[in-house]
Amino acid sequence: MMFTVVNNPNTAPSQALVAPRPVESGNARALLANRQFHVCGVNMRGEAPLIQASAGGAFLVGEEASKYVLQIRRANPGLPLIVEPRALRRHWASATEPFQGEGTEGAFQLDLDAELDRQRMSSDLAITPTGQIRKGDSAALKAALAGANALDREDVLFALPTSAGWLSDELLTRQLIAVINRSRHPVLLAFTDPTNPVGSMSRARAYRRIFMEATVPVVAYRADLVGFDALAHGALASAIGSYPSLRRLTPVGGRGSSIDPEDMSPHMLITDMLRFVRSTHMRREWFPNAASIKCFCVICRGDDLDRLHGSEEERRIGHNHNVVAVDNLFSGYLNLDGAGRRALWARQTAGALDTYPQLESHIGRSVKVDNLLTVWAS
Ligand SMILES: [Zn+2]
Repeated sequence: MMFTVVNNPNTAPSQALVAPRPVESGNARALLANRQFHVCGVNMRGEAPLIQASAGGAFLVGEEASKYVLQIRRANPGLPLIVEPRALRRHWASATEPFQGEGTEGAFQLDLDAELDRQRMSSDLAITPTGQIRKGDSAALKAALAGANALDREDVLFALPTSAGWLSDELLTRQLIAVINRSRHPVLLAFTDPTNPVGSMSRARAYRRIFMEATVPVVAYRADLVGFDALAHGALASAIGSYPSLRRLTPVGGRGSSIDPEDMSPHMLITDMLRFVRSTHMRREWFPNAASIKCFCVICRGDDLDRLHGSEEERRIGHNHNVVAVDNLFSGYLNLDGAGRRALWARQTAGALDTYPQLESHIGRSVKVDNLLTVWAS
């Protein structure tokens, strides 16, 4: 048991030993299979050593990624490291300019192959520097596909950073699936939104449908726990961030709107409940008159899960807890085939529903079940 108060036996970490495994640098399909990925931002140097190297890897994102990648590689030689190109955060894709290199903004300095070769100097895989694709901009989407399909190499991921609006309209979702299925390369699929792109029940259903109908390997990128729903429905891998702005792409030029500057305490993953809950929320709403959940992970070591406030140091501790908790949750999926993964997710989501009455009887009040859990459990 990892936590007191709530217990979902289906999310208990697997005790099986993981065989050492080389980094399959340059081979996208081999490297991505049977690993859990983490999206690492400001805390990348702290998080990398916590990741299970033989069963995981890291996408390094943000302006510090290129600065620290070699240092992180030296300190963690067995860990796959992939650097996210800036275009996914900074460029709007158009039909004439679906990609943007790292050179001068607005001008493509190198051809696409040369740009990807340059990425490979520090990254185990290359990623097409696709700009964000606005809702319904089919011309930009198809231009990106044509550019990526012209590449003849096995080390590249075709990045599709698409507006969450593509999930809100059935025709658009079908069009997106059709484009994914024409890709020669594994697809790195992320959605842009100022808050959670997959936060509604209808979008969660559309998201699942993409993975069920994709015939090309797809990575659920910059995901939250919906990455496990994707994994259970055919995703090659998922990449989950330790704090909210890493679990989505913020639209170009936007700043993300969900952060309340008065409350920067970390969101803590409670694996047994399959949800992230802000430390402050637990302290104020759940445990003002009852003992807190204690966490027995290697970061918390039996401390209260709601102990953390908004200082940088405390936020880092919370984010480290999340990295370890995601790996613990993934440990049960290692070496399972598609049917096994689907069955495990069904047991985990059913068990998560059971934790609500456990929590309610402990704190003496009702707690609303997360809508997304209802979708995942269906
Ligand atoms: Zn913990």
